Amino acid sequence: MSNKISHKTYNPFQIEKKWQETWKVNNLYKTNENSKKEKFYALSMFPYPSGNLHMGHVRNYVITDLIARYQKLKGKNVLHPMGWDAFGLPAENAAIERGIDPNEWTQDNIKHMKNQLKLLGLSVDWEKEFATCDKSYYIWTQKLFLDLFKAGLVYQKESEVNWDPIDNTVLANEQVDSDGKSWRSGAIVEKKKLMQWYLKITDYAEELINDLKILESWPDRVKLMQENWVGKSIGANISFKIKNNNNDLVVFTTRPDTIYGVTYLAISANHKLTESITDVNLKNKLNSLKVDLQKTKYNVDEKYGFDTGLKAINPINNSEIPVWIATYVLDGYGTGSVMGVPAHDQRDFEFATKNKIKIKQVISKNMDGKEDILNKAFEDNGFMINSNKFNGLQSTDVIKEIIKVGTNESWAEKKIEYRLRDWLISRQRYWGCPIPIISCGKCGSVPIDEKDLPVVLPNNLKFEPNKINSLKDNQEWLNVKCPKCGYKAKRETDTMDTFMCSSWYFLRYPCSNLQDKPFEKEKINKWLPVDQYVGGVEHAILHLLYARFLTKALRDRNFFNINEPFNKLLTQGMVQAASYKNPKTGKYISPKEIKNLENPLDPTDNTKLEISFEKMSKSKYNGIDPETVIEKYGADTARMFILFKAPPEKDLEWGDSDVEGQYRFLSRIWKLYSENYNGKVFNKENYIEQKELDLKRDMNIAIKEISKDISNNQFNTGISELMKLYNSISHNNNHISASLRKEVLKNFCILLAPFAPHITEEIWQELGYTDSVHNQKWPEIDLKALVKESYELVIQINGKVRDKVFIKSNSSDEEIKQISINRENIKKWVAGQTIKKFIVIKGKIINLVV
Ligand SMILES: [Zn+2]
Repeated sequence: MSNKISHKTYNPFQIEKKWQETWKVNNLYKTNENSKKEKFYALSMFPYPSGNLHMGHVRNYVITDLIARYQKLKGKNVLHPMGWDAFGLPAENAAIERGIDPNEWTQDNIKHMKNQLKLLGLSVDWEKEFATCDKSYYIWTQKLFLDLFKAGLVYQKESEVNWDPIDNTVLANEQVDSDGKSWRSGAIVEKKKLMQWYLKITDYAEELINDLKILESWPDRVKLMQENWVGKSIGANISFKIKNNNNDLVVFTTRPDTIYGVTYLAISANHKLTESITDVNLKNKLNSLKVDLQKTKYNVDEKYGFDTGLKAINPINNSEIPVWIATYVLDGYGTGSVMGVPAHDQRDFEFATKNKIKIKQVISKNMDGKEDILNKAFEDNGFMINSNKFNGLQSTDVIKEIIKVGTNESWAEKKIEYRLRDWLISRQRYWGCPIPIISCGKCGSVPIDEKDLPVVLPNNLKFEPNKINSLKDNQEWLNVKCPKCGYKAKRETDTMDTFMCSSWYFLRYPCSNLQDKPFEKEKINKWLPVDQYVGGVEHAILHLLYARFLTKALRDRNFFNINEPFNKLLTQGMVQAASYKNPKTGKYISPKEIKNLENPLDPTDNTKLEISFEKMSKSKYNGIDPETVIEKYGADTARMFILFKAPPEKDLEWGDSDVEGQYRFLSRIWKLYSENYNGKVFNKENYIEQKELDLKRDMNIAIKEISKDISNNQFNTGISELMKLYNSISHNNNHISASLRKEVLKNFCILLAPFAPHITEEIWQELGYTDSVHNQKWPEIDLKALVKESYELVIQINGKVRDKVFIKSNSSDEEIKQISINRENIKKWVAGQTIKKFIVIKGKIINLVV
């Protein structure tokens, strides 16, 4: 070893630097493509290159790293890659502010963050790295888009978008504030119809719900969120005839059992039936409502509406009911119309109450069929009332009956509906993956020939502060010949939603250096699904749903045979830290300005500050920079703290004293080993057989428990087990054989290695081994050693401890009695008295009553 490290005190910085460099030189974490071992694919959700690593990232990657290292020690062939989710608005906006190229900004951030990541000592195979904004990656995003296009899973549709008339751009819903204004320009956001690109995710709605059952190792709440998002509901389409009109009004309902309780029908402002309104006043009212909805959608009262004067006929009993226009009915959703059942739907109840529409109860919780006084809608199931021949029946049974009657009479049809909409992937922005389509006046939307991919983002734009770039501005790039007819045509100027780039990146890692295609079938079949995926719960819906959809769509195009991309999912909790808030002003105060953190006062007005644990953020002055922590304690301590402080899926509260606690633990381990290097002599006189057996047993318990804890993602209790074993080693170490000492020091080092990779590597070398500790085999459990062959019996007289003795575990009560009364100590205490009673607590105590 070239740079010898002093073993007097634990110096993590020297050790960590040394090993990070050595691992890199030795290419220790390179994926072995030809290994015959069982594969394990460990993956963190890849970072957005925002510029700085934060504690949330650190937690995410340390968890994945621990799992990857453990699986490698367990003999698996591990793939553990890392990359960058690099397109998107934040980079573009930061670049706009500074007047620079978003690519330049992104590349700088990647460089900086990669250096920060390396400080953590992750076992990442950096040869697999890519960024989604690399041409060599997005060429394949474009190819996959074209494959989906050819399969009929991509289409263009005119739809309403949020339009900023000052910046001339479309805004995402999140970029419109509660007053309906643009977050950037402050302009009142308009609704505008634009041609947009969609992916047909709805074709997979049923499978996306059904296959949630396969995902046994996903958190239940994530599965529930996906299920609700796809939102399957079974119900019926019901046709209502309109009086004096040829059109039927079709509504979808999941509650056909409430059909006797329909007291109005409601349609959206743009519904076709509104054309049948004849009254001039009503027509004017409708037109002004439409303008309001376009301009100030965000302020329209949800319960607003008016009677159209049209009458519908309820097919079940031929009663006449009014047709209303209601703002809560949306154009795009279902049939754009709903049946109003105020007694059994809370939104209908509020609408009817406000607009003085009749409320008719048809389901009651009472078996006797009495009506209730309704202060709100009764949405539960119950017994039918006011429903003719169905009265008294259970409402859940009546659903089927009504559908049957309606189907026979041709006014109802069983129907399954999904809440899921198709995925809108158009973004009118520069910094994204260009959509590989040419639009021709004659031929329409023409896909670009695959041999002409990639469509590269033009890089000759002028980047100036506060100038928003659009692909539309670049004439040279924009104007092309139609690949079909050769006439003048234009490129598609929308770029893809970045979720498109991240919906297939996990398929690229096994083949990231492949030049002529996105991936190889055999490699995908070999490496996928990801065995352990780790990331934030904020991706429970969009990213994870899109990735599942794309995997299924590509499977159906025969790219590979994988049904689901992620086998196990771990969603880690947030990292929180103490924040200090003045309850009077609502202002957060930086801890640097507070004199006494035990009794924190606002330095300006001496108000007692409220302390709470919140997600780290700049605005709350409670962010803790990972680099500062690593500079102070080293990466191994930071890793140990993060893994020890809370179970991974729970929120973690930052605490300096706990960080120091882990630092002290590693220092003690360091000391223990430095005292034992270089053949500490085995001293026969000190040998105690019981201590040898105890330590052997503790070591095997630790192997068993730590293996179990890591497999169950209970890393915190895994560290507790390491602490127990450490204590046992320090207590028994001087009384054991040289061979056991060697074995236990070796095993403890391997058990600690996935948690604290640097210190263990240094110790390993000092123990005299030559290969890396991270290439070793996880220790096997010796089941025999787990059996306790003897134990220490406590002997009490009248409840007071008078002696202790090691006896065989299988001793009978009679043997225990005999051993006890023959002890010299006990004879002394008992002398001259009669023993009235023996109480034996098996495996622990005998109490002699005298
Ligand atoms: Zn053409």
